[in-house]
Amino acid sequence: MRWRGLLRLEQRVTIHPMSTAPRPDKPRCPQCRLAGSTVARETVQALVSVSLRQVSDTAYYFCATTSCPVVYYSAEGGITFGVSDVREAVYQKMSNRDDVFVCYCFRYTVSAIRNAPPESREAAIQDIRAGIQANQCACHLRNPQGTCCLPNVRRLAAQASQ
Ligand SMILES: [Zn+2]
Repeated sequence: MRWRGLLRLEQRVTIHPMSTAPRPDKPRCPQCRLAGSTVARETVQALVSVSLRQVSDTAYYFCATTSCPVVYYSAEGGITFGVSDVREAVYQKMSNRDDVFVCYCFRYTVSAIRNAPPESREAAIQDIRAGIQANQCACHLRNPQGTCCLPNVRRLAAQASQ
């Protein structure tokens, strides 16, 4: 069964070479063993607090596991950057902390969403959306996950309103 499934996936990739379907062989975090998400090397370069001589030209992944101290790891060469090697406190690793940013581009902390009245939460989401529409965000350079924060903000706001 598994073999058949793999064959089907290969056929789909051949037909649609730009497909973003998850690859079955995505490298796993060397610490927690869960598959991370692809992150641009530029994001790693922007976010680490170590010499960029250590950021060799290879593929990097972001580990979002809360309990795992690894933030970035390489597909090859065994490179890892942990929470203390990153210039920002990483939301996924410490979302219980009030002062951690959930939106790094427009500077909304966990507290500003979680401890705010519902109308302020909605105003923050509208402000972030306006910023995105005005092309003012730089998620690939500011947010450790390298992608837009809005799903995280929405999730946090939904949790807070329960
Ligand atoms: Zn991990």
